[in-house]
Amino acid sequence: MRIVDFHTHVFPDKVAAGAIPKMEQTSGYKAFTDGTVGGLVASMEAAGIDKSVALPVATNPEKVSSVNRFGASIAEPRLCMFGALHPKASSWHEHLEEVLGYGMAGIKLHPDYQDFYPDDPDLLPFFAACRDSGLLVFFHAGGDLSFEPPNRGGPARIASLLEALPGIKIFAAHMGGFRMWDEVEEHLLGKPVFMDTSFAIGYLSDDRLRGMIRRHGTEYVLFGTDSPWMGQSEEVKNVLGLGLGSAAEERIFFANALRLIPELAA
Ligand SMILES: [Zn+2]
Repeated sequence: MRIVDFHTHVFPDKVAAGAIPKMEQTSGYKAFTDGTVGGLVASMEAAGIDKSVALPVATNPEKVSSVNRFGASIAEPRLCMFGALHPKASSWHEHLEEVLGYGMAGIKLHPDYQDFYPDDPDLLPFFAACRDSGLLVFFHAGGDLSFEPPNRGGPARIASLLEALPGIKIFAAHMGGFRMWDEVEEHLLGKPVFMDTSFAIGYLSDDRLRGMIRRHGTEYVLFGTDSPWMGQSEEVKNVLGLGLGSAAEERIFFANALRLIPELAA
């Protein structure tokens, strides 16, 4: 079976050496790779993963262009690099053009690191521009091991954004919102929002997770690991262990990813 991991992170080699230990400290989590492109590719080979989508976050507006230059410079065909944008950057228009110019299929946003609420009315023009350019808007959703609650990117706020801008392609990581799954069930399940399986197994009971996946619809759930923060081999086994059946597994492991980004088939 082909496998796409739709939620991974890589850093420039020099940055990874400093950033990974720092993030290990704030999150209390041990990384499964060294955070480099080489580290991720080695992990993919060991896990039998064909493609990974890598999601960069620009923690401040000044970093957006350099983060995107790094993404665009990666020549590894097994990685699909998303762009970084910062909704509060005064120059987000230009950054958006950069991302589109690099041919990136989507962008990653992190409401806690970037200090914004997805349903802030002031940000509607930003999100409308993302929608109109066809970009997939990938949110870190729900709680975060590095940020104390209340967290900014909760499922209800993401649902409000979808309501305000019908047609926007939204991805809400961690089954719609890490550790906010009651709110996911109330506000997001059944809506046209993509979700991934990262940081769900082991945090939700298998029964509840299976129920959520079925209720949400397997065409909107994708395999993701949040590598390096979870092990890719371990997570492949964990998702297969849910016993969802081969039709659902095919969608979750690759068909949904190919529907979103046809180039991943190459
Ligand atoms: Zn992540």
